[in-house]
Order: sequence, then C-alpha cells, then structure tokens
Amino acid sequence: MTEEPLDRKIFEHAFPKECKACGSIYNNYDDFIKNTEALANGDLSQGPKRSVLAYRNCPCGSTITIKLEDLRDYSEEGKERRQLFKEKLSVHLENGVDEADAIEIVKKEMDLD
Ligand SMILES: [Zn+2]
Repeated sequence: MTEEPLDRKIFEHAFPKECKACGSIYNNYDDFIKNTEALANGDLSQGPKRSVLAYRNCPCGSTITIKLEDLRDYSEEGKERRQLFKEKLSVHLENGVDEADAIEIVKKEMDLD
C-alpha cells in the first residue's frame, strides 16, 4: 500500500490530534505523517458514509485513527448527480411533462426524497 495518503487538504481539520495512549500531540499533517508509521495493511479504509478512516501507528505502538470527511469525492459525486438530475428532467420536460411533476418523477427515478 502507498505511504502517501489522501489529499492533505481534507486532513487539515483533523489536527491537532492527540494519541490517546501516550499523549503525543500531532499538530498538523506533516508532523503526523513524519512521526507515525503506516500500517502493514495500509493507511486508509472507507468509513461510514462520507468518511474515510486513516490509520497510523504512533511510536508508542498504539494505532491512531483519524476520521475524515471525504469532501472531494462526494462533491464530485454531487456534481454528477446534479448533472444527471438535469438531464433526466429535461427529457421529461421535452415530453411535455409539467415541471413540478417532472421533478417528482426524476426524484423517484434517482431514489431521492
Ligand atoms: Zn502514542
């Protein structure tokens, strides 16, 4: 697995981060990456919706977990969804469906509410 985790921008709000086991404080991304070790099976995993979990080993041996909002990926997905919504909507409008009805239909099609 790679030593270089995600885009550092989405890490920034996670600091400072304290190791609960030994009390070491990591003030920022660089500090954290430089002073901790990657786990053998990788740094990252997909967390609950809209988040990514980053794991690093503190020199004390404890694993530090940072939960990140995966802003980048989800804004991309949001863009695609909005685009798709518009495309679907325009098809219904071209077919003469009333706009308010068309919006309801597309919401159903896309499983939105
Ligand atoms: Zn520690």
